Amino acid sequence: MNGPLATRELDRLRRRFRGDVILPGDIAYDAARRLWNAMLDRRPAAILRPTTAAEVATAIRFARDRDLVVAVRSGGHSVAGVVGPDGGLVIDMTAMQGVSVDPAKRISTVGGGELLGALDVAAQAHGLVCPIGVIGHTGVAGLTLGGGVGRLQRHFGLTIDNLVAVELVTADGRTVRASETEEPELFWGLRGAGWNFGVATAFEFRLHPFGPDLHRGVRIYPAAQAHEAWAVFEAFARSAPHAVATIFGIDREGPTVDTPDALAGQTIVYVAFNHSGAPEDVERDTAGLRAGPSPVSETIGNSSYLEVQGAHDLVLGWGRRSYLLSTNGNGLSPAALDQLVDLVATSPGEGSFSITALRGAIADVPEDATAYAGRAAAYDLSADIAWTDPNLDEACRAWARQTMAAVEPDRALGRYANGNSAAGPEVSRSIYGDAKLERLRTLKRSWDPDNVFHLNHNIAP
Ligand SMILES: Cc1cc2nc3c(=O)[nH]c(=O)nc-3n(C[C@H](O)[C@H](O)[C@H](O)COP(=O)(O)OP(=O)(O)OC[C@H]3O[C@@H](n4cnc5c(N)ncnc54)[C@H](O)[C@@H]3O)c2cc1C
Repeated sequence: MNGPLATRELDRLRRRFRGDVILPGDIAYDAARRLWNAMLDRRPAAILRPTTAAEVATAIRFARDRDLVVAVRSGGHSVAGVVGPDGGLVIDMTAMQGVSVDPAKRISTVGGGELLGALDVAAQAHGLVCPIGVIGHTGVAGLTLGGGVGRLQRHFGLTIDNLVAVELVTADGRTVRASETEEPELFWGLRGAGWNFGVATAFEFRLHPFGPDLHRGVRIYPAAQAHEAWAVFEAFARSAPHAVATIFGIDREGPTVDTPDALAGQTIVYVAFNHSGAPEDVERDTAGLRAGPSPVSETIGNSSYLEVQGAHDLVLGWGRRSYLLSTNGNGLSPAALDQLVDLVATSPGEGSFSITALRGAIADVPEDATAYAGRAAAYDLSADIAWTDPNLDEACRAWARQTMAAVEPDRALGRYANGNSAAGPEVSRSIYGDAKLERLRTLKRSWDPDNVFHLNHNIAP
């Protein structure tokens, strides 16, 4: 059903639902339907903001009884662009926030609609941390249910590797708790393909003693030295200690790297790292990165972890158009590197390419332990483009596809679900691989046989 909802039905819903019910025409509607990516200009039939798990169940039933497409939304940062269906019903979790920390047990309980920044701040108040993503206004739910990568994952594992339990409202309105011992198969699927099985109303995470500082550095080179810089990065990444996260990037005026004046307007390559271990180990652990040519600029030093985590919240704020594609890989051919430099130099928007070293603690977890696939991969290879002019939409998406084609020969098993704007059956297959996809389909048939939760990297039942 795509027409407006009848007043009588809405009145009945409001009697059972304490949270906001926001409809087209309401003053709050335009703000409530807005999503991080400005390309996603969707007009749902209703946006419901439940305040309890029982209200989430009411919202699911309301939608199902009327054949309304269901979308679930927390931080609104969906890379896959699937959260606000035209004419459908959005279950907007933003009223279910809150973070509590038990410092003795080193456990945090987080509301299903909470944002990353709140978890960082609450955990750091006790000298603790959960490895999460790098932008504070991203939703905990969407990020966690796909895996969760960021600055500390080589040290402490993916976000899902620190997940103790999830409280979930399922397609039939039941509230279940999934953990290693409660619904363990569901818990397996929630860790990598989680948006498929219900609405997460709360998460429990394991925390680690950490902080308050992070040691970090960025070395910037002209693109003409891309091969020398890559050789340094590759040799270092091959045996980097778990406490070092490192990334090789190709960029122009990137929002997250300050280009030095000497290279203003030019394509650059950079090698960035952060060291999350003991300060006295930094010199030894990062020595390999100082090999090779001298950079044009180098920034290095300690910063507060919370400051680093919030540093790009504004430059990567809401309102721009965005498209992102990524894959796992085990290397990068010299020809691909040349192509990538040319593609970044000529991108129609702000195009950049990054190669993030994976492994470390991510690879310490057995491949079969979670639905997330590709723990043995050396790198995440990502093409990222942002722009503001709607007339550039197709050119920018085509740029990302062309850029990923350049690294296709370097692909390895798996693709990070939360790093892919393209969605569809073949994308789901390449994210999970054949064997995990089959196991997920069996799980989906148990928990959501009608595919109520399909606006995601979908597992068709
Ligand atoms: C600026 C930016 C920075 C990012 N940085 C990182 C990063 O550092 N690391 C990383 O791993 N990823 C990162 N991502 C990707 C991000 O993790 C995914 O886009 C994620 O899905 C966003 O979650 P959300 O809750 O904000 O999004 P939403 O758009 O609200 O939802 C995304 C998906 O999750 C589902 N979902 C949302 N809430 C729930 C819930 N409570 N229960 C069940 N399903 C739910 C939705 O249905 C949808 O399929 C970033 C994205 C952006 C835009």
